[in-house]
This record gives sequence, structure tokens and C-alpha cells, in this order.
Amino acid sequence: MENRQIKCPKARQCGGCQLQGISYEEQLEQKQKKTEELIGPYCRVFPICGMEDPYHYRNKVHAVLDHKKGKVISGIYAEGSHRVVPVDACLIEDEKADEIIVTIRELLQSFKLPVYDEDTGRGLFRHILIRVGKTSGQIMVVLVMASPIFPSKNNFIRVLRQKHPEITTIVQNINDQDTSMVLGEREKVLYGKGYITDTLCGKVFRISSRSFYQINPVQTEKLYQKAIHLASLTGKERIVDAYCGIGTIGLIASDRVKQVIGIELNEDAVRDAMKNARANNVSNVEFYCDDAGDFMREMAANGEKVDVVFMDPPRSGSDEIFLSSVVQLAPKRVVYISCNPETMARDLEYLTDHGYRAITAWPFDMFPSTAHIEVVTCLSR
Ligand code: SAH
Repeated sequence: MENRQIKCPKARQCGGCQLQGISYEEQLEQKQKKTEELIGPYCRVFPICGMEDPYHYRNKVHAVLDHKKGKVISGIYAEGSHRVVPVDACLIEDEKADEIIVTIRELLQSFKLPVYDEDTGRGLFRHILIRVGKTSGQIMVVLVMASPIFPSKNNFIRVLRQKHPEITTIVQNINDQDTSMVLGEREKVLYGKGYITDTLCGKVFRISSRSFYQINPVQTEKLYQKAIHLASLTGKERIVDAYCGIGTIGLIASDRVKQVIGIELNEDAVRDAMKNARANNVSNVEFYCDDAGDFMREMAANGEKVDVVFMDPPRSGSDEIFLSSVVQLAPKRVVYISCNPETMARDLEYLTDHGYRAITAWPFDMFPSTAHIEVVTCLSR
């Protein structure tokens, strides 16, 4: 196991890696202890699954642009602020993505393209977002701009592609709002297909700029395999993949069940999920764009039967509408995947008070150097 203590010179200013400078072994110990504190009261917590090489794992890299003394800078917001810490190389980000960001920053300078100023609302270029398909090698560059007008666009794209032929698609995203959201609603594909693909557990996934996709594919494969294993599927089940994103869990499980119902709020993700089903020749899945709680409540009201519910909510966890509908639908098993054991513990409290028993919990280190923990817990009725 990787146990060097690599130090990041920007760690203190950036604040993104709360466990920076702590040996990897110690990081895992801390996460194990935290998971046991939170989830241990409900069931046995197995030892955390760490990474062989816990660096440069992030396949999605975001840089905010700013200027300082006439120079363009790119980097990360200092935690809890809008002050930009210049960062050229990050220990947890994909290295190629970091190189591309530096090139873009230099090109903005040499093309004299104006960087957006949050205080005055003037200027053009706001953020750069890069997504890398770690198995496909495909790379998407998203240029987030305050206006659709892109001076010297063709030249800029030509030079960028010359310097980085590995870029497979370039998207212009328009964000003209005074907002802390990175991406706006409108997009224009400037080069390539406008999305990348990547392979997880033998299935190919299409990922667009705004869809959720796990940022650490190495650990995601292990996590999904565990989640599907815990469901003890026999081929006869009707399963729900709630908070399904681009359909990853449901599509990977689809070979081992009768039917999959995926539910996701983000329209782009649902569109990707449907295309992913077709691209993988999976015909036993249906995806719905809806609030997971509302949708499940309706399923329960219609008296539908479900054998297993996979749920993978955002950091804020699930809600009572969703959890109460799970209780009403009464699947034999619930496989709960969480990126926040605190909200998971709260939701386990509800489920275990309403007829479910937590069986085992398995933490995964999806976010080395940061304090975040991913956990999958299996519950049975
Ligand atoms: N299971 C997927 C995505 C998990 S992330 C994967 O592993 O890739 C959580 C997802 O929940 C996001 O795609 C987000 O858009 C979606 N989401 C957030 N709130 C939701 C809600 N109320 N109903 C349905 N989906 C929701």
C-alpha cells in the first residue's frame, strides 16, 4: 500500500485535502474509526477498502479563472471563500487535466481573452472543467463563459488541439448568472461529440458535462461490485436504482435481474442513462426523470412490487418521503450507497425503526487525502 507522505505546497491555502500530510495508513484508520462511530451502532462495519496508489485519482477537474496584477491565474477557491488560490498541479487530480488547464490559461493570456471578474460582472472566461475517461482515454474540455460570443474561437480551438491532441471534445458552456454554480444551462459543442465515454465493470457509459459521474473510477468499480454482490441477485428480481445518475448501478446489475427501474432528477443524466442502455444492448431497464421520493411514493400507492432497492443519494442523504415509500414498497433488501455516513446514519435510524435490519457496512476510500468517506450498507426486511 502507498504510504509516502507527499506534501502539497498549497494545502493550507486551498483546504480541499483535509487529511493532507497524514500517512495514507493513518487516513484509512481515521475513516474506519469515523465509520464505526456512525454506522457501527446499526451493524458490523468491515475494514475500509483503500487505494493502491491514492494520488491523481480525480477524473473530473475544475479550475476557476481570475486575474492578478494583469496575469491570468487558474486554481481553486480557498475553502469557504471566493478567493482563488493559484494551483497548477494537484496531488489528487488527473495530471493530464492539470496540464491542459495550464495550457488554456496561457492561451487566454496570449490571445488576450478577458477573464471574468466576479465583482464587476465584466469579462468572459469563468471556469475550465475537464473530464477524463480513465479507461477510454477520452478527454472533454468545458469552457465556461459569461457570454456566447467567443472572439478568435477557431484559432483558439485549433491551437489548443495542436498542443493537446488527446482532447476528444470541447464544449462551450454559457453561465451568465451571478451564481456559485459552475455550469450554466446553455451549451454549444465546439469540437467532437460533446460527451466522453468510459467503461465501468464491463459496461460503457456516456458522460456529458453536467451529468453526475463518480470521480474515482478505480474505487467505483470495487464499490459497485460490492453493492451488487450484497443484493444477492438471482436473476428474477425487479430492482429500483434510485438517484441513478447516468444509470451506472442499474445497468451493471441488469444482467443479473429481471427488470431495472432507474430514477433520477437531472434531465441530462437521464438522457445519458437511456443512451447508455441502448449502447450496452440492455433492454430490461426503464429510466424516469423525477424526484426519487415522489416517484417511489407513487409506486407504493399503485401497489407495485419491488425486490431490491439500490439507493445512492447526494451528500444530504434521502428524505422521509423516499424512506417511507421504501417501507411501504417493502423490498426484501435495500442496498444503501452513501458519500456521507452522517446522513446515512440518520436514514438508517429511520429504516431500522420501520422494519429493516442493517446487515453489514463496507467503507470505501473514494476520496484519499480528503475527509470524505463512501459507505455501502445492506439492509434486509
Ligand atoms: N448512482 C449514481 C449517481 C449518484 S449521485 C452513480 O453512482 O453514478 C446522486 C444522484 O442523485 C445525482 O445524479 C443527482 O442528480 C441525483 N439526485 C439528487 N436529488 C435527487 C432527487 N431528489 N431525486 C432523484 N435524483 C436525485
